[in-house]
Amino acid sequence: MSLDSLKALVPILLVPLTLALGMGAAIQGEWLPPLSQGLLETLPWLMGVLAGVLALIYGRTRTLIAVILVLAVYLGSMFQIRPMAMTPETDLMPALGYALMTLLVPLAFMANALWTERHHLMVDLLLRLGVFGIVAGMALLIAAGHPEGMARVVLTTHWPAVHWDGYKMPQLAFWSLLVSLGVMGFCLMRHPGPQGIGQWIALAGIGWMLPQLFHPYAVPLFTTTLLLILAIAVVHESFQMAFRDDLTGLPGRRALNERLQRLGRRYAIAMTDVDHFKKFNDTYGHDLGDQVLRVVAAQLRRVGGGGRAYRYGGEEFTIVFPGRTAAQCVTHLEAVRKAIETYQIAIRDTRTRPDNHRDGKTQRGRGKVSTVSVTISMGVAERTADYPDPEQVIKAADQALYSAKAGGRNQVCVAPDPRLALPTITDASNPLR
Ligand code: GH3
Ligand code: MG
Ligand code: MG
Repeated sequence: MSLDSLKALVPILLVPLTLALGMGAAIQGEWLPPLSQGLLETLPWLMGVLAGVLALIYGRTRTLIAVILVLAVYLGSMFQIRPMAMTPETDLMPALGYALMTLLVPLAFMANALWTERHHLMVDLLLRLGVFGIVAGMALLIAAGHPEGMARVVLTTHWPAVHWDGYKMPQLAFWSLLVSLGVMGFCLMRHPGPQGIGQWIALAGIGWMLPQLFHPYAVPLFTTTLLLILAIAVVHESFQMAFRDDLTGLPGRRALNERLQRLGRRYAIAMTDVDHFKKFNDTYGHDLGDQVLRVVAAQLRRVGGGGRAYRYGGEEFTIVFPGRTAAQCVTHLEAVRKAIETYQIAIRDTRTRPDNHRDGKTQRGRGKVSTVSVTISMGVAERTADYPDPEQVIKAADQALYSAKAGGRNQVCVAPDPRLALPTITDASNPLR
């Protein structure tokens, strides 16, 4: 998981974690005023409606289903079937109902996460609800018809060697939780996103909550917290979609425009463009071109000097350096330029690699893997009396970039100070080149 994806976790986790910690301390210290049980038990429903409406508005079927599942578990706990769960001899049906819920809910979370979202929201939603409803209904019908048989399946410890006594749940429920969290975690590693993170936390939270003995406040408050996490995940993902570029993971043009409004009196802006990228696409294909853009973005993201990289559009990127002059940025930009120049990108299929391409080629093994590299050109300008607005600074940086291209590419050029009227910025004697 990239650093940026981890950063995306922060807003999702911060509020609910603070809430959960505060809540735990308040319960432990008995600081809470006597709360009406009725009000407490209504809280999860209110939060569920809020999270559900947000998921509906933003067309997030998966999160909507996750909200429904959390509420279903809450409803299950309201029926107070849990205390009977561990003593099936008292009354088999509630224990079976509870065990089925703990077995099926994690599987439903997993299936929901793996199930690709379709274009038509309502069809998608009804399909998911239908499938999960039918499975749950059939399981309950079988349990009602053959309670002993079902009990043997869901309440027995089938494999003592892989049973953990510390988790006070039937073995199948434990493994269903573990497998579902594992599969969802794997999906998250491949496609990290706030919604996926929210759903994983919601399931982990349910898994943690189910076998505990609780203070009467805790189940409603904890459920409310999980639903709040899901609501925040929906909002945060929509925010990311608007401000983050999907391909590279960098903030996009909209985020850049926003940033440009909040710059102080001193800053520098660098414009970056991949060299001969059209030719690269034509030679190696668009997919490898996309991979190159990701590599370039990953290197740009690491730029020093407090710079922040944005995808300006296409194969062009912008780096904003608050509080810096253009000259101060050059060494940082040079470091990135060199890093990209030396970065070797693997190509698996040599049939697509013509022998005469000028980019780096290395044959390994029996020629199945080769590598290519790309270069970038950069132009940087700072705010001056002549370029007082960010748009003008960008224009000046663009002109410097044009000079870098004209000067042979794979280089960094600084926009000249118009008042000094330097003859040319691509002059080989220019120390900043
Ligand atoms: P120069 O060195 O002068 O910059 O040459 P160039 O070929 O890089 O410049 P040009 O602007 O003509 O080409 C940009 C190319 O970038 C055209 C387009 O095919 C490609 N491109 C733009 N966006 C994407 C993208 O998202 N993915 C891929 N694979 N290619 C893109
Ligand atoms: Mg271009
Ligand atoms: Mg280009």
